[in-house]
Amino acid sequence: MIPYGRQSISDDDISEVIDVLRSDWLTQGPNVGCFEQVVADYCGVRYAIAVSNGTAALHVACLAAGLGTGDVLWTSPNTFVASANCARYVGADVDFVDIDPDTLNMSADALELKLRTARNEGARLPKVVVPVDFGGLSCDMNRISSLAREYDFTVLEDASHAIGGRYLDLPVGSCSHSDMATFSFHPVKIVTTAEGGMIVTNDDALAERLRLFRSHGITRDPALVTGDPEGIWYYEQVTLGYNYRMTDIQAALGASQMKRIDAFVDRRNVVAARYREAFAQMPIGTQAIPSDCASAYHLFVIRVDAAVRAHVFSLLWDAGIAVNVHYIPVHMQPYYRNLGFQPGDFPEAERYYSEAMSIPDFPALTDGEQTYVIQSVHDALEAT
Ligand SMILES: *Cc1c(COP(=O)(O)O)cnc(C)c1O
Repeated sequence: MIPYGRQSISDDDISEVIDVLRSDWLTQGPNVGCFEQVVADYCGVRYAIAVSNGTAALHVACLAAGLGTGDVLWTSPNTFVASANCARYVGADVDFVDIDPDTLNMSADALELKLRTARNEGARLPKVVVPVDFGGLSCDMNRISSLAREYDFTVLEDASHAIGGRYLDLPVGSCSHSDMATFSFHPVKIVTTAEGGMIVTNDDALAERLRLFRSHGITRDPALVTGDPEGIWYYEQVTLGYNYRMTDIQAALGASQMKRIDAFVDRRNVVAARYREAFAQMPIGTQAIPSDCASAYHLFVIRVDAAVRAHVFSLLWDAGIAVNVHYIPVHMQPYYRNLGFQPGDFPEAERYYSEAMSIPDFPALTDGEQTYVIQSVHDALEAT
């Protein structure tokens, strides 16, 4: 089967991991800080905090933002459930903002309208908004950040898909238009640590809180402890945190992968460009990429007539191509329906979902495999 995405592991990656296995530090050693520095430098951001996965990154980011019971977080319905679940972990409520039908990201127009309506009706305004860089494409961060100033919310950019992407000629994750951004290093994402995640920020206070929540709420920092240090063993738990640490094994893999991130993203873009050319003559829609953005292309999504989507999907599986669907709108999940959401609440996300399919785009996809995918999509459409 040709998957929709998969990791690329080199001999160098393997030997970096083996070196850690032979070293003194499997976790809480020097590799985590090195990986954090590599990512911070790459993104042009001051702080990078590595955690055990992208979901943990969103969770500690919500804690650092002070989100809690009685608050509400707004995100896109066209995302993985973790972008919304992070609010529920801290006892906050979730609401959604519908997508732009062209970029498939949270619509800045819809966000503005929903904010204005909430203010006019005296309804709750969001404490945190989570724009999700769908497929690797940055959201309209300029407009979202100016709405954040007007309506006083924290911008937590879920950039799980988008490390290596660019916005206004800056790397995604520079936090020039967000308070924090998070990455996931799951094997289908742009770079991998097997499981892993990271939060980036330029804010000193947020960085400090993120580090605390990552590791039990425990600190040795003299500036943070409240009591008198009784000796060099002394530490304090000053808040309730978690064990969300990344291991040195993972961090070494991540740092090694980061040496090839530009090659990964370039190759994903080459694959995407060839798809766009091939599909221009077919009844297929694709994600619009605004001219001020460069996508990291975690996903290449196509849209076909909703009446034939399921059939095309199964014909491609029969042909050995493991296409997938990103995403079933989060508000349609039983868990969220039980909280009161209904079909029809976010019609653009629902319409997109009914037509969507993610087809293979990853660095190791060969030209021959891609030719086969294009031919198979063509044949599947002809057969329906
Ligand atoms: C992958 C992903 C996550 C969660 O990352 P994990 O590392 O799998 O926990 C969160 N949000 C989005 C949009 C993702 O695609």
